[in-house]
Amino acid sequence: MKKSFKTIRHTVWIYFAIFIVSILVLMWFTFGVSLEANYKRLKTSSIFDIASYILVGWSKDEFTDDSLDQLAYDNDMCVLIQDAYSNTVYSCDMMANNCLVHGHGTELYKYRAEAAANPNGIYYTEIKNPRFHNDTLLFVMILGDRSKPSGYIFLNTSLEPLNSTTGIINSQILWVSIMLLILGLGISYFLARLIETPIVRITKSAKKLAQGDYSSHFDGHGYAETEQLADTLNYAAEEISKVDNLRKDIIANVSHDLRTPLTMVKAYAEMIRDLSGDNPVKRQEHVNIIIEESDRLAALVNDILDLSKLESNNASLNFSEFSITKKIYEIMGRYTLLSEQQGYKFFVTADKDFEINADVIKIEQVLYNLINNAVNYTGDNKTVYITQIVVDDETARIDITDTGKGIEPELLPLIFDRYYRAEKNKREVIGTGLGLSIVKQILKQHNFKFGVRSELGIGSTFWFEVKGKVVGDLND
Ligand code: ADP
Repeated sequence: MKKSFKTIRHTVWIYFAIFIVSILVLMWFTFGVSLEANYKRLKTSSIFDIASYILVGWSKDEFTDDSLDQLAYDNDMCVLIQDAYSNTVYSCDMMANNCLVHGHGTELYKYRAEAAANPNGIYYTEIKNPRFHNDTLLFVMILGDRSKPSGYIFLNTSLEPLNSTTGIINSQILWVSIMLLILGLGISYFLARLIETPIVRITKSAKKLAQGDYSSHFDGHGYAETEQLADTLNYAAEEISKVDNLRKDIIANVSHDLRTPLTMVKAYAEMIRDLSGDNPVKRQEHVNIIIEESDRLAALVNDILDLSKLESNNASLNFSEFSITKKIYEIMGRYTLLSEQQGYKFFVTADKDFEINADVIKIEQVLYNLINNAVNYTGDNKTVYITQIVVDDETARIDITDTGKGIEPELLPLIFDRYYRAEKNKREVIGTGLGLSIVKQILKQHNFKFGVRSELGIGSTFWFEVKGKVVGDLND
């Protein structure tokens, strides 16, 4: 997998930095670049307002020199009001003798003419102040009738913000920018750490898990997502640990089970070679033991294969319709030898002929495994009962009962597990420890219910329920 060098911390930092820089750029642009343009625009529009304010006030004779001074001071502008004959009626210079409407007689004449030429009697223009080289706005407005003016208002104001003002604003922006930068980087650092911490913690535990330490616990507290991740990993760790234990058990059991018959085979083969080779009776006996042990080995290997196939679901079922009742009788026929030679007694009862749709071979295997267990574990009376009872229209239950020592209640849930073996129950007949696991897998695949009832000292009944239909009485 391609390794990513992008860490969460760096990514958060980078995005935060981009965010802050964007804010700063926007701020500098607003204050630095567009401050002047905005100032000009505002100043121009305010000069119009002031002019019309003076105009209205003048016509009503509302102004005193003081109130006009205040107006000029508040708006940072020079005001000159002339009568029809160009005599100064009022004058205020807020620009320390550098006002363009003071001492520019000829020019004023020109502006008056321009205003008279305009239908609205207003003229304004931008002029550079020759002394300070700043842009200024010069505004003229005719008082009274345009053709017969009663006077003129001249206004002049700087269009550029004062250097001191811009300086203060700039230094403030600089401070705000620096603080914003520090704050942003600080916040992004802590944010990155906050997000990173549970992930780093989980990664540490995951490394331990990868090294085989199944006790490692995942702690994702802090966020819902990391908590969920931690829970999932804890669950996975638990499952892996179970599977690992099972694997160890299986290897231990299988190797133990394989070793015993192999040792026997080797021992008896050596015996034949060294001792009994020339004694036909002994040799026969020893060869028989070798054959029996080889059979056990073959049975064990087959069971392991069967179970692993069943568990990996590779064994698909071959469904067909058959009579489970007849199948039971047929199988019991094969136990005749066992009854005749070893005195086992089998009692088979069935109420009706019941037909099911299932995998014949697999169901046969279930019956064999359960009957073999019953034979192996039944009591000294060597009796085994096989009963088929029709429970309802579509269900029949098969009970296989022995008269053995029974199974302790706390062991009942375990016996269907792989390799579970209660050694003390054993007779001389040795099983593989896989029989019931195979039964469980097959019945589960068929969706058939199964279970066991057992009473200590009385015996056990293994049962399973098959789905199908009654097809007739047994005597048919
Ligand atoms: P095994 O080859 O050991 O019989 P099984 O999977 O068939 O393996 O059975 C698992 C264990 O369940 C047995 O070892 C035994 O302890 C117990 N068990 C199974 N059938 C019976 C029974 N009919 N009576 C008593 N115990 C039984």
